[in-house]
Amino acid sequence: MLNLKNKTAIITGARQGMGRTHALTLAKAGAKVVVSDISLENCEKVVKEIKKEGGEAMAIKCDVSKEQEVDEMMKKTIKKWGKIDILVNNAGICQFKPFLELTEEEWDRTININLKGYFLCAQAAAKAMAKQKSGAIINIASVAMGQQGIGFSNIAHYCASKGGIVGMTEAMAVELATYNIRVNAIAPGMIDTPMIDPIKKDPQQEKAILARVPMQRMGQAQEVSNLVLFLASDESSYMTGSTVVIDGGWLAG
Ligand code: NAP
Repeated sequence: MLNLKNKTAIITGARQGMGRTHALTLAKAGAKVVVSDISLENCEKVVKEIKKEGGEAMAIKCDVSKEQEVDEMMKKTIKKWGKIDILVNNAGICQFKPFLELTEEEWDRTININLKGYFLCAQAAAKAMAKQKSGAIINIASVAMGQQGIGFSNIAHYCASKGGIVGMTEAMAVELATYNIRVNAIAPGMIDTPMIDPIKKDPQQEKAILARVPMQRMGQAQEVSNLVLFLASDESSYMTGSTVVIDGGWLAG
């Protein structure tokens, strides 16, 4: 079991889906975990689950697209636990909309949450990590990040945000290495979470996607959390600037 004892971790978008399993997994490995999301009520449920298993956690409501809420989250974390060792930038939305019908407002909302939100959280956390001269930041991208030989319809704004995350991850890794802060991205394929409910409601679409996945199944959130745990731990000490694909072979197929 990879060990995160004495480490403090913030996970955004952690009230459900992959963020929830990231929080449970890092807590199980010994980290003190901030379970953060746009809705506090469901975060408290995850905190209860962690505490029931003997872990330490607190819930913080934070809309990642709002600088003031992000700064408050960092301050509260440092006030309670003295430092921030790990940030998992996970919060995101995925709206399905044909490109020709996409409005400026919809474009801005996706970019503000999925890309600006990652920047705000990463910068605020990195400022604290730079003082400590250590830290690990994990940015959740997607196979829909571009340059992979496959295109995705009806999610141009989502793809733009995920491609942006990969570029930002590499730039951050280069700049922050001097502070001993590692920055990596994860690009999951189709993972069974509430985000893909619209796909699951359309069996034909689900079948068409799975036909392109050599392992012929969706991934489970826990499978991605295991990778988050590795990238958060000192076992990945020579990794920075990487984007690790976890997709059942989709991009290789
Ligand atoms: P999910 O179950 O929908 O979880 C995302 C969480 O982020 C939700 O609780 C959501 O709240 C929250 N959120 C939305 N806007 C926010 C904001 N402004 N501030 C804070 N939290 C906010 O989706 P998931 O599948 O676990 O996705 C986690 C990450 O993996 C996302 O970045 C997603 O793009 C990425 N990803 C997912 C898949 C997949 O197949 N599932 C594949 C590749 C990448 P609401 O429910 O209220 O919006």
